[in-house]
Amino acid sequence: MTEPLADTPATLPGRPLAVFDIDGVLADVRHRLHHLEARPKRWEKFFYAADRDPVLDEGVERLRAALADHDVVYVTGRPERTRALTERWLARHDLPTGPLVMRPDHDSRPARYVKREVLRRLAGVRPIASVLDDDPAVVDLLTADGWPVELATWLPHSSTLRSAQQHHGRT
Ligand SMILES: [Mg+2]
Repeated sequence: MTEPLADTPATLPGRPLAVFDIDGVLADVRHRLHHLEARPKRWEKFFYAADRDPVLDEGVERLRAALADHDVVYVTGRPERTRALTERWLARHDLPTGPLVMRPDHDSRPARYVKREVLRRLAGVRPIASVLDDDPAVVDLLTADGWPVELATWLPHSSTLRSAQQHHGRT
């Protein structure tokens, strides 16, 4: 499958790569999680409400620090059809708008398998120095694969938030 790698930075200068997730690392998704608590889940509304995500300062600080000596690549589970929205959002917050690797529109695999595939392809282009993601399932799998992954903890992952709401009635 090549579609997720359409924006692979094969032509960038040769600095190591710092891989950044977006949702829960740079973007605060909490205001749109209610779309996923609905039955049936309102996935499209959830994705398109990303336009209004507040920025997460901790993630942005990490991104700016990484840019000093890395090339940053965004690897997100957001679908391709939200590319324009996502690029506008990044630009609005004065962040690099790419390279941005997104999930193919009809790829419904769990994010960890999509991201595993993306990392394997990226590693063929450039050494991967770091990966930052807020999804414990992603972090577990990529760590087991041997990548230098860090769990972003400044916002509980949406699965954790939803679980807290279901089991404890609160966030
Ligand atoms: Mg995330």
